[in-house]
Amino acid sequence: MSTTPTVDDPDTEEEPDSTLVTARRQLERAAAHVDVDPDVVERLKHPTRVQQVSVPLEREDGSVEVFTGYRAQHDDVRGPYKGGLRYHPEVTAEECVGLSMWMTWKCAVMDLPFGGGKGGVAVDPKSLIDDETERLTRRFAEELRDVVGPTKDVPAPDMGTDAQTMAWFMDAYSMQQGETTPGVVTGKPPIVGGSYGREEAPGRSTAIAAREAVDYEGRDLAETTVAVQGFGSVGANAARLLDDWGATVVAVSDVNGAIYDPDGLDTRAVPTHEEEPEAVLSHEAPETLSNGEILELDVDVVIPAAVGNVITAANADAIAADIVVEGANGPTTFAADAVLEERGVTVIPDILANAGGVTVSYFEWLQDINRRTWSLERVNEELEEQMLEAWDAVRAEVEAADLTWRDAAYVVALSRIAEAKDTRGLWP
Ligand code: GLU
Repeated sequence: MSTTPTVDDPDTEEEPDSTLVTARRQLERAAAHVDVDPDVVERLKHPTRVQQVSVPLEREDGSVEVFTGYRAQHDDVRGPYKGGLRYHPEVTAEECVGLSMWMTWKCAVMDLPFGGGKGGVAVDPKSLIDDETERLTRRFAEELRDVVGPTKDVPAPDMGTDAQTMAWFMDAYSMQQGETTPGVVTGKPPIVGGSYGREEAPGRSTAIAAREAVDYEGRDLAETTVAVQGFGSVGANAARLLDDWGATVVAVSDVNGAIYDPDGLDTRAVPTHEEEPEAVLSHEAPETLSNGEILELDVDVVIPAAVGNVITAANADAIAADIVVEGANGPTTFAADAVLEERGVTVIPDILANAGGVTVSYFEWLQDINRRTWSLERVNEELEEQMLEAWDAVRAEVEAADLTWRDAAYVVALSRIAEAKDTRGLWP
């Protein structure tokens, strides 16, 4: 059966929409608020290129399994394509295109000189031992070699991949190019050209977005309760920073469920996914909850920082928080967004909230090109500055046209992209 996405039926619910359908609807919605040439919007609905590759892997038992990999390159009017590579069983070409569109907006809203890309391999990373992941990554890098590069397309970690994956990718690319090329990927370990602070950056920006949203609503962080779904690099770092800054983090979760303490958790004592995978429930707490229940807790701020499509039309009415800060990419469906808007819940969108990851990726890319390392203090200072600039640009749109934060972020991004497209013109 054909699964060609359409953008005409916003009311049919609620099989959560595909990422691409959501991304296109969000673009159309935002375009209505910007004075933008419809031809530009039409061009932005389509990716420049989607590379599909076969990735044969020799398993430990000597058998060979063939996986499918993708790299979607959405738009590069402002600079090289940029975005993560995910290893997940549900990776598809269509999902990569939708996610690459979000990267285009994310880079534009942060005013980075990058466009949007996203890719991955349809594989369950938990089914691979380390040696297999390394072989898979090296072969995937080789299959993508023609379409990536420091000035073409710069991948980074995403779901199911990490700094070590990027180190293998960089090594495979460099060996074939005949020169060490750290700028081909970001999110590497610092010893091979990675940036200090990159790993915690999406969590840090999510925490900054939460802090600014609380402040914007005239509240005090010290009197704010927070629930965080997901305790990986985004959720755990966001939770710990907010805890450090005085907020009361009452609940956190991993894939197995949530722990809840109305008096506040000691977030540093709860093991992150990196420290001990899937061990949140091993931490002693007065109550445990499901991953559905944590989103509905009566807290001031809820941070979905795990997977996409978790706030849907089915539970949007039950979200009790006043502020949702999107740590994950695409946690709120298009239909749920409408419900939250109607109910007056503030949603700080992913393309702003978790953009610290790609922002520090940009810093890493600069460090690689210049062969000069920045200190952690400098990275965090510049990230703070860049986040506040983006926050102010989006806030100005929220206030000027009474837009939601998502629409306002799209307006900022789309205006910058449209102006760049208009200035460059259409070739030939
Ligand atoms: N995968 C991350 C994201 O979704 C980071 C992308 C990057 O650093 O290029 O924003």
